[in-house]
Amino acid sequence: MRTGLIFDIQRYAIHDGPGIRMTIFFKGCPLSCAWCHNPESQSPRVQKMYSANKCIGSQDCVRACPNEALTLTPHGIVTDMEACQLCGECVRVCPTKAMEFSGHEETLEGLMQQIEREIVFFDQSGGGVTFSGGEPLMHYQFLIPLLKACGEKGIHRAVDTSGFTKTKVLLEVARHTDLFLFDLKLMDPVRHKAWTGVRNEKILHNLKVLAETGVPIQIRIPLIKGVNCDEENIRETAGFIAGLPGEKRVVSLLPYHDLAIKKHERLGQTYRFGQLERPSENELRQIEKVFEENGIRAVLRA
Ligand code: SF4
Ligand code: SF4
Repeated sequence: MRTGLIFDIQRYAIHDGPGIRMTIFFKGCPLSCAWCHNPESQSPRVQKMYSANKCIGSQDCVRACPNEALTLTPHGIVTDMEACQLCGECVRVCPTKAMEFSGHEETLEGLMQQIEREIVFFDQSGGGVTFSGGEPLMHYQFLIPLLKACGEKGIHRAVDTSGFTKTKVLLEVARHTDLFLFDLKLMDPVRHKAWTGVRNEKILHNLKVLAETGVPIQIRIPLIKGVNCDEENIRETAGFIAGLPGEKRVVSLLPYHDLAIKKHERLGQTYRFGQLERPSENELRQIEKVFEENGIRAVLRA
């Protein structure tokens, strides 16, 4: 595949693997987690985003739209998504970047040029490049040549995945990956489907198979009160991780935050999960303790 659909590229990232990193976010994901902090990552298509707080009400966009899809309302510009053809005129004429597209095509050569410009920072810090999303493995035909090209330049490669992919694809990607950041959300398959849109048997199987290869894996667990912080799920999660083959694991715990609400608004989506909460400090201590009891070091991220 000659191009990949990317929705963000972050330089100087420090939470997506060792050292200073460039994190490249692929657009499109087979999961639709209720708490997703990058809701624009879920659709595998280009989307239009609108920021009311940047809009000055000039209506350049309304006049430019060839499909009369835009209306100025007391709450800002509203897009009739049935009429919108994603032609990009409104984005082009908007003087304040209140209208933006999320998602653009990148070639392998173009991405490699950007990655190679960062090598000096990677070398000084022990960093590298992290492929995230969305789900980067959805784009494996583009990702694998990219991983190979980074490997040829001696660049450390991390892949951040939900693990929801064909085992064959995961193992092929693993041949060209130095570190996996593997997300583990819920152990019960029915609850997993209710909150993420898919069951988890494939994910758990893939994590076991990946651990058997010996490739370094950092397991990351989002913690959302009311979703996965109950004692039964935490004990089952810790027991599963403790039973994985290979080295003793360090697990990253990522407490929920509600920064995604604004992004849902910008996509014109209603945020349906206002009841999601960050666990209390006391609950976080209890969760860490369960992991410790299972011989797992848990590192809490702010
Ligand atoms: S992307 Fe094109 S069709 Fe859609 S609202 Fe903007 S100008 Fe209109
Ligand atoms: S062109 Fe931009 S700033 Fe002007 S009304 Fe449209 S979105 Fe708002």
